[in-house]
Amino acid sequence: MKRKIILKRGRDESIKRFHPWVFSGGIVRIDGDVAEGDIVEVVSSSGDTLGYGHYQIGSIAVRMLTFGEVAPDKGFWLDRLSSAYKVRESAGVIRDDNNAYRLIHGEGDMLPGLIVDIYGETAVLQAHSVGMFLAREEIAEALKSLYGDKLASVYDKSSSTAPFKASLELMDQYLLGKGDGGEVVSENGLLFSVDWIHGQKTGFFLDQRDSRALIGNYSSGRRVLNLFCYTGGFSIYAMANGAISVDSVDSSAKAMSMLEKNIEINKSALNISLDAKHQSYTEDAIDFLKNSPDNKYDLIIVDPPAFAKHRGALQNALRAYQRLNAAAISKVSRGGIIFTYSCSQVVDKIAFAETIFSAAASTGREVRILHRLTQPADHPVNIYHPEGEYLKGLVLYVE
Ligand code: SAH
Repeated sequence: MKRKIILKRGRDESIKRFHPWVFSGGIVRIDGDVAEGDIVEVVSSSGDTLGYGHYQIGSIAVRMLTFGEVAPDKGFWLDRLSSAYKVRESAGVIRDDNNAYRLIHGEGDMLPGLIVDIYGETAVLQAHSVGMFLAREEIAEALKSLYGDKLASVYDKSSSTAPFKASLELMDQYLLGKGDGGEVVSENGLLFSVDWIHGQKTGFFLDQRDSRALIGNYSSGRRVLNLFCYTGGFSIYAMANGAISVDSVDSSAKAMSMLEKNIEINKSALNISLDAKHQSYTEDAIDFLKNSPDNKYDLIIVDPPAFAKHRGALQNALRAYQRLNAAAISKVSRGGIIFTYSCSQVVDKIAFAETIFSAAASTGREVRILHRLTQPADHPVNIYHPEGEYLKGLVLYVE
């Protein structure tokens, strides 16, 4: 018997508008022997086929892969990957001096539940759904067909992202090729050592590429503080663009040692001056900022981890963003610049802007917004799934 999910009346509207999720509350009946991760046909109450997607137990019951009558076929994965590759090519993200980019950004690339990041000759895959986890070998094969010799290995790092309730046997491992987990990649001509095995997420925060480039324009002659610096993305750009000094702060000792390595790699390989005085601090960034004197910095970067991972944590998270940003705004020198971010999906851009507004107001200083930032083109937002826009940033000028 065919595996079918029959929707309640009226619950087909959002799917007809190409929203990629079927919620469990919208289902009236499940036909056939459906297991988690199976591809199911989604059917309206009047019997029309709306599309096909991955079934999973939970509030999001189906993640749509295709819409309409056509089921995913043999060529499905390669088609989707090729289309995603074309998007990155069009956006100018794939270049000799930029060989680290996100190839698949879940819903943004019509592959809900899948992330694939490319680091030189390695693809790092993270499945966020059972269906994508079960399809990982097929996806690895399609990646190999797409890239040919340009791809040496595919690493599956789904153990921290795939749903643990599904009792999958999760073990991070190479699906193709092998390696020790490290590669030096080039981002806008600057070099970064990425460790996808031991690093956070897939190893590097590719979503801040555009912001890092923008930091370059503001760094010359400034004393920079990079809070939550991870492996030093912003710090290296500031140093390469004429900062007087850069202080980098992160609570992760592993990240700080990677940062030191990244400074060395750039110093020895590139013919650019990295003369800024650099200082690393393996500390709590919030305490560091609290204890640092006023006017010590002309540019402060505030890029914390997601303070709210779900809706229930929203109010506390907003208060935390507010306090942190108030401290940054009150400490920065006159005419100083602040780059501030939130990557919490549940904090929308209006809530974020309001939080920064109240942080500014609490300091009594004059503040102007110079840029409103979001994720770069290799993290596209599916227009039918606006929830996919998660990264928000503001660049402030503080009088
Ligand atoms: N700006 C970075 C990405 C930041 S990710 C880049 O461009 O690559 C968030 C970082 O915050 C992580 O490296 C994590 O180790 C660090 N972190 C989390 N909580 C922290 C805290 N309380 N104090 C300092 N660092 C913290």
